Amino acid sequence: MSPTRRTVLRAGVTGVAGAAGLTALSGRPAAAARPDTGVSVYPFPLSAVTLLSGPFQANMARTHSYLSFLDPDRMLHMFRLNVGLPSSAAAMGGWESPTTELRGHSMGHLLTALAQGYANAGPAAFKTKGDYLVAELAKCQDRAAAAGFNTGYLSAFPESFIDRVEARQSVWAPYYTLHKTMAGLLDMHLLAGNAQALDVLTKMAAWVKLRNDRLTQAQRQNMLDTEFGGMNETLANLYQLTGDPNHLATARYFDHAEVFDPLASNLDQLNGYHANTQIPKALGAIREYHATGETRYRDIATNFWDIVVGRHSYAIGGNSNGEYFKAAGRIASELSDTTAECCNTYNMLKLSRQLFFTNPTRADYMEYYEKALYNHILGAQNPSSSHGFHCYYVPLRPGGIKTYSNDYNDWTCCHGTGMESNTKYADSIYFHSEDTLYVNLFIASVLMWSERGITVRQETSFPETTTSRLTITGSGAFTLKVRVPSWATGAQIRVNGTAVTEPVTPGSYATISRAWASGDAVDISLPMALSRESTPDSAATQAVKYGPIVLAGAYGTNNISSLPTLNASTIASTSTPLQFTATASTGQVTLLPFYKMHGQRYTVYWTVGTTPQLPPFVAHYRFDETGGTTAADATGNGRTASLAGGAGWIAGRTGNAVNLSGSTAHVALPSGILAGATACSVATWVRVDTIATWARVFDFGAGTSASMFFTPRSSAGTARFAITSSGSGGEQRINAPVALTAGVWTHVAVTLSGSVGILYINGVEAARNSSLTRRPADLGTTTQNWLGRSQYGGDPYLDGALDNFRVYSRVLTAAEVADLHATGG
Ligand SMILES: [Zn+2]
Repeated sequence: MSPTRRTVLRAGVTGVAGAAGLTALSGRPAAAARPDTGVSVYPFPLSAVTLLSGPFQANMARTHSYLSFLDPDRMLHMFRLNVGLPSSAAAMGGWESPTTELRGHSMGHLLTALAQGYANAGPAAFKTKGDYLVAELAKCQDRAAAAGFNTGYLSAFPESFIDRVEARQSVWAPYYTLHKTMAGLLDMHLLAGNAQALDVLTKMAAWVKLRNDRLTQAQRQNMLDTEFGGMNETLANLYQLTGDPNHLATARYFDHAEVFDPLASNLDQLNGYHANTQIPKALGAIREYHATGETRYRDIATNFWDIVVGRHSYAIGGNSNGEYFKAAGRIASELSDTTAECCNTYNMLKLSRQLFFTNPTRADYMEYYEKALYNHILGAQNPSSSHGFHCYYVPLRPGGIKTYSNDYNDWTCCHGTGMESNTKYADSIYFHSEDTLYVNLFIASVLMWSERGITVRQETSFPETTTSRLTITGSGAFTLKVRVPSWATGAQIRVNGTAVTEPVTPGSYATISRAWASGDAVDISLPMALSRESTPDSAATQAVKYGPIVLAGAYGTNNISSLPTLNASTIASTSTPLQFTATASTGQVTLLPFYKMHGQRYTVYWTVGTTPQLPPFVAHYRFDETGGTTAADATGNGRTASLAGGAGWIAGRTGNAVNLSGSTAHVALPSGILAGATACSVATWVRVDTIATWARVFDFGAGTSASMFFTPRSSAGTARFAITSSGSGGEQRINAPVALTAGVWTHVAVTLSGSVGILYINGVEAARNSSLTRRPADLGTTTQNWLGRSQYGGDPYLDGALDNFRVYSRVLTAAEVADLHATGG
């Protein structure tokens, strides 16, 4: 990134000085005094990306409607009264009521939302309203001394709240509230070109410095036990803009050692900490790294992200229960009505962006972004509300239901960050570096990459379809990096109809460098499949996903109080995109994308029966018993077999063998002998006394439709292994060149792995099939696992004996098979 690169300001925006830096901020134009250290990828300004029709645009439109509706004088009411200015506006309720200690916190969210809305497709009236708010706030700030406050103080509550923080007396979170205002002012300056906003902000920053300069380091650190939002982040951002070292020094006052020190050592000590108090600290750390180049800040932020995403996050990408981090890995045990506070994810998304700018080789940052954006943020707004009312918590207990804010009597923190989230969906679809364009998200939109004279139009209805088309207007050489999500097995990218030769590897960015020409079309195909995400503390507690989309069970008014048990094999698609049905312990249930789940109760998590993992060596029947009708499993796994139909004992290849010389004699192995196996080997000694067509050495199945078997002689006259999950017509076969020989002990082994199946006779390969697609797992839990008996009732039973029958859930090597033959094992 050249420090002289300019990004395009929205027409009419003036007053933004400077030429570089601040480019790692949210869609902000290049406008700072200082370049960011350690950043190699940059966002486009919000004005460069236009959303096209789709769910994100619909959400944005509702929030825009709310921004137009809000009465600025009601928002200013307590700011004015706080400094003795008159106000006849009606007081607001909820967290903005005149007696709530957090009053005024929504002002900053509103300023940011107006600035973002103005920069991204909103009306000019947003800037007018934002400018009015800034001007009126400036008047309040100018009255600080007259009201008995220190110069520069600006708030809807008295400065004595800060005295209480410093004295460690009870008070909600005054610095948190002031941070919101400061961040909103910075956005009004950077995104809406308001010069006065920077003046008011600079005075607030000077006031923060005044309050903290006079404290000891120990006093300041004690004070940081009270939630202070992203004071370090906003002050670092301000330093990048102004270059004033006082702003950096003040930012560092908010480096909370108790939280930063363990994170710098990559220790997870988050258990019991208020979650959304900590996330902005990490966001501040990464911006302090960008401002100073001190890698400890980078490590703190990187480690924090890894810890929170890896050990403290639900399937929807959110974190926290009752606003707090719990012990690492506690997810299934922390499902309640107060899970997944929306602000936390708003801040985790901001952190993910900054970390990606810092290390774009990590595709997982934007993969998490996709997960949390679709499954948490997008679905946290009520689509039935024309004003975009927003969730505070997102309940994840079974039977939970989303509840929402309102116009003037709620004002939770998440209502505020919701205004922000829903006015900046355009900010992370595309990023760029000098000569590279990143496509991160599959959201219908148009990008104007003005520095290169390139327009990219992305047309998609993802995730309801699995494709996206980029059409390029303009020409020139640049590298296109398309995020290939880790869930998109089989992803393909075509340029002008031809599949690219570059790797398209899930979990990375596909890199396509070429001289692009107007009209070039890039078609991205991202196949989705059903999958389930287990919780770390309960393997059987799982969320169902289709591609990246969490599917929740729709329960209407049924306030279920415990996790339903889901029969995962019954999940079936419907004619409606992303809508499925399934059978659960509660009966037939419809599964919907969680982002579309509104107005009814639901479950995100289920109890799903899991198939126990097979051991590599599943079973071994020596058949050395001398009496009785059971055959021991020599592996110690306890898979005892049963002799039936007159089967008995006889001298074998080594020791005894099972004698199947009766008309209905056979052996039954336990149910599910290879359930879930994707590879397997079966090996045995067999002596066939009479070769009868279609007799079986073994036949594992659940009837004639799904089975795998070996016959000494098929109707084609040779020995054959076959596997099918769709009857005889679907059999995939390995045909030996000849039939088994009657009356002699013969060693037979079959191995399956990937697409390769090999049949060994007497320790050497006799035949193979390299295009198999069926696996034991495709047969389900087989219940008729027979030796000497076919799934087909009309087939003959085996006349002969078996010895040392072995079953593996892994592939035996040729050497291992040869050794079994050589040793008689
Ligand atoms: Zn919140």
